[in-house]
Amino acid sequence: MPDLAASAPTEPPASIVVVGAGLAGLRTVAELRAQGFVGSITVVGAETVPPYDRPPLSKELFAKTEPVWLSGEGFGELTDLADRVLLGHRASALHAVDDGVTLTVTPAGAPAGSPDAAPDAAPGEPLSADAAPDAAPGEAPGAVVLATGAAPVVPAGWDGATVLHTADDAARLRAALSPGARVVVIGAGWIGAEVAGQAAARGCDVTVVEAAPTPLYRQLGATLGERTRPWYAAAGVTLRTSCPVTAVRPGEVHLTRRDGAAERLAADVVLAAVGVRPVTGWLGGAFPLTPRGALRVDPVGRVAGAPASVRAVGDCVDMEVPGVGLVPGGHWDAALTHPAALVADLLGQAGPPLAAPYVFSTQLGHDLALVGMPDDDASLVLRGDPGGAWTALLVEPAKDGATGVLLAGFTVDRPRDVGPLRKLLADGARPVLDLTRAADPAVQLRRAVLTADRAAGPA
Ligand SMILES: Cc1cc2nc3c(=O)[nH]c(=O)nc-3n(C[C@H](O)[C@H](O)[C@H](O)COP(=O)(O)OP(=O)(O)OC[C@H]3O[C@@H](n4cnc5c(N)ncnc54)[C@H](O)[C@@H]3O)c2cc1C
Repeated sequence: MPDLAASAPTEPPASIVVVGAGLAGLRTVAELRAQGFVGSITVVGAETVPPYDRPPLSKELFAKTEPVWLSGEGFGELTDLADRVLLGHRASALHAVDDGVTLTVTPAGAPAGSPDAAPDAAPGEPLSADAAPDAAPGEAPGAVVLATGAAPVVPAGWDGATVLHTADDAARLRAALSPGARVVVIGAGWIGAEVAGQAAARGCDVTVVEAAPTPLYRQLGATLGERTRPWYAAAGVTLRTSCPVTAVRPGEVHLTRRDGAAERLAADVVLAAVGVRPVTGWLGGAFPLTPRGALRVDPVGRVAGAPASVRAVGDCVDMEVPGVGLVPGGHWDAALTHPAALVADLLGQAGPPLAAPYVFSTQLGHDLALVGMPDDDASLVLRGDPGGAWTALLVEPAKDGATGVLLAGFTVDRPRDVGPLRKLLADGARPVLDLTRAADPAVQLRRAVLTADRAAGPA
């Protein structure tokens, strides 16, 4: 990570372009206004509709048949907050120059005649959105905030597989999931499990095929992932683990069974839920990327290898958190909370402390939360009833075995532990726990803390 602090701007930018009109983009614009930015804001968003919430697309696939607009959830109206909103437009190139950043913006299928569509450009003609259009020499340069999110991965050769990422995807999936339909969900991750439960409750015949040995293997590790296995049968879903899919053809899924034999599953609907990739390809290698293709940022969104006028936030980034390491993006809470610190730094103000990594999910009849960063080598301390509501604390035990450093917590139907975990792990903290007290579900988590160690957190 280069010394980004050395290149911090000395004065706030004159104008700002936000690329991406999802949660992170909208929150960035709202924070800019809330923190007193009076300059010009342009937003470029590839989708033709205003920002909406994605988690209900899988969790409430049938209960919410219209997008849950973020403006209706109290996040603000993009068109009220920004000077110029180019929905249905895609940033297709970025050039960092000495006094700011220049973007090339191209219409991305905006409906003809839409008031938001390409006001200064004929369809198909590039529109240049200079981040500092009016900056004279010596004036503060413009800035750009990249909030382009992530897109579902569909491996080559998976013809006929559908995905769930946008409101349009949800509408298509909803229409296809009629009672009795044979549904194969590839991937027992967060979204795969959520959709499998919804489809089974709808009366579909659902099979989840997972290459790893357990569900949620990549997210939680084998031990915790295994604990979610019984939920599938209980929800009427067939789960096949250690079965890598080799191809998807219209109407069938080809997989390799545990015993190594090839098998075909007939399917009316195939959902690929095998992960997402940050939307960074359009940058054409302008900045170095992390192994999963994300922009590497610091806790105030400064992009490694980029001028300080380029910031990034949300699903398109991995964040280097002092004392914690590289925290992958991809979760709602980061898109919600990280823009506040990014904007404060961009405007030369002090920002809030960094929230702990936090993921939530409602799947197969259970409410889950993961707080902090799980570590494969961590020991588990269980609080609660393993057959009912429980929390697993992931700790690095001390030699005496009586105390341990808290790294993460995973809650199942035990919301009362979520808030305390988020507080204890905020700002890169690594508290030391009394493990006997921590294992007692009747003892409040904060009462098991011996040292609220913030030494490892950011200075
Ligand atoms: C079905 C589903 C369920 C989910 N459930 C949960 C959950 O339970 N818990 C949780 O923590 N997270 C969940 N998530 C993840 C969560 O929704 C994301 O972390 C969050 O939406 C990230 O916001 P974002 O603004 O960074 O990205 P996005 O919401 O993806 O928004 C990015 C926007 O940028 C646009 N864009 C991309 N490229 C360009 C470009 N070149 N020019 C202009 N615009 C561009 C995209 O079209 C998109 O509209 C879920 C996601 C999905 C899809």
